[in-house]
Amino acid sequence: MRLRVPSPKDVAGKTVLVRVDYNVPLEKSGSGWSVSDDERLRVSLPTLNFLVEAGAKIVLASHLGRPDGKRDLQYSLKPVAERLSQLLKRPVKMAPDCIGKERASLIGSLSSAEVMMLENLRFHSGEEKNDPDFAKELVKGVNILINEAFSTCHRKHASIVSTAKLRPSFAGFNCAKEVEMLSSLMMEPKRPFVMVVGGAKIADKVGAICHLAKIADAVLVGGGVANNFLKADGIEICNSYIQDDPVDAKQKGRSYVTVAEDLIRDTKNNKLLLHGYVPLPKIIYPVDVVAAPSLKSKKTEVLTLVNGSLERAEKEKLMYLDIGPKTRRLYREILLEAETIFWNGPMGVFEDTTFRAGTMEIARTVAKAGGTTILGGGDTIAAINLFKLNDRYDYVSAAGGAALEFLSGHILPGIRPLLQV
Ligand code: AMP
Repeated sequence: MRLRVPSPKDVAGKTVLVRVDYNVPLEKSGSGWSVSDDERLRVSLPTLNFLVEAGAKIVLASHLGRPDGKRDLQYSLKPVAERLSQLLKRPVKMAPDCIGKERASLIGSLSSAEVMMLENLRFHSGEEKNDPDFAKELVKGVNILINEAFSTCHRKHASIVSTAKLRPSFAGFNCAKEVEMLSSLMMEPKRPFVMVVGGAKIADKVGAICHLAKIADAVLVGGGVANNFLKADGIEICNSYIQDDPVDAKQKGRSYVTVAEDLIRDTKNNKLLLHGYVPLPKIIYPVDVVAAPSLKSKKTEVLTLVNGSLERAEKEKLMYLDIGPKTRRLYREILLEAETIFWNGPMGVFEDTTFRAGTMEIARTVAKAGGTTILGGGDTIAAINLFKLNDRYDYVSAAGGAALEFLSGHILPGIRPLLQV
C-alpha cells in the first residue's frame, strides 16, 4: 500500500495545513510547562523541513490530551510550539485558537517558509465529533492538506477525515513510511515471518493477532496476553492477570479466551519447522513462567506448565509475571531463524527487574536477528529505551493503536483519502 506524498511543486507558495500528532508528555518547568519527550516532534521534521525548503506557508494542527471540547489551557500547545521552534531553528508563531478571526489574520500574514501552530484542536467538540462545519473552519485560508499524524488515523475526527474531503490532501513522509513498513508485513513478508505479542491488554491486540496469524508463520505469545492462551488450552493460570471481556462478549459468545481457543484450533495444522525439522504449532505460548504471589514480591518461582501439576501454585494463588527460561530459549531459537519479525508488547512486568528477563531476551534477540524487524507499542518502546537498544531495529512505530488497527487488516479512515490511485 502506497500513499500520495507531496512534491515541491504541489506546495510551493501554498498555504499548507499539516495535521501532526504532537500529543506529547509535558512536565512542569518553572512556572510553565515543557515537552519531556519530543520524539513525535522529531519524526515530523523531514516533512516540515521539506515544506520550508519548498517555500510553503506552514500551518500546524494537533490535539493534546483530553480537554473534552473545552478551552483548558493546561492542554495548550504553546510549550510544544516552543520546543518545535528549537528543533526547526526558526520561529513558530502560536495562534490562540485553531479557528476564528485571529487565526485567519495570522495565516494571512504568513510569508513563504514561515511556520505557525494552531491551538489544540480538541478545545472544540467539533474535532472529535467529526463535525463538517468545524472542518470547513479548519481549512479556511488553506490550499493543501498534509496528514503527518498516522497515530491518529484510526480516529474519525474532523481534522483527519472531514477536512480531506475539502482540499487536495497528501501523506507526510513519516506517515507514508509507517504505512509502507506495516503493509510490507501483510503483503509479502520474507519468511519465516514471526509475530511476538505481549503486554497486559489483549483487547487492543486481538484484531492484529487474528489477522496476522493468517499471514505469519509463528505467533509467540507472552505477557498477560499469554494467560488467555494458557487458559484456552486448559492450563491453570492461578491468580494471573486476564483482561475482562468486552461487555457484549456474552451475547456474541466470543470472550478473549474463546478467541484464543479458536485460533489454537484453526491453526493447529500449520506447522513451523524449527531448525528445518522440529514441527511446532503456529500459535506458541509459554511452556514455563516466572510466578510470584504479588507484583511487589521478590519471592519468585519458575513453574513449568506442561505435564505437571500446579497444585501448590493453585494453593498460593500465584501470578504469572514473566516468561520462564525454557520459553525464553524456545522464543530465541525461533526468532533467530526469522526473516521478518513484528513485536508488540512486553513478555512480562519488565518495569520491575524481577520480571524483566523475558522482555530483555526478546529485545536482544530481535536486535540481533538478521531479517526485517519492526516494533510497536508504547511499552515495547519504553523497554527498548531502557535496554538502550532503540537504534537496533529496522523500524520502531510509535503509532500504538493505529498500527494495531492497520495490522487488523482495516484501511484506516484517515488513510483512505491518501491512497495512491
Ligand atoms: P499493554 O499496554 O497491553 O502493552 O501492556 C503493557 C503492560 O503489560 C506493561 O506495563 C507490563 O508491566 C504489563 N504486563 C506484561 N506482562 C504481564 C503479566 N504477565 N501480568 C500482568 N501485567 C503484565
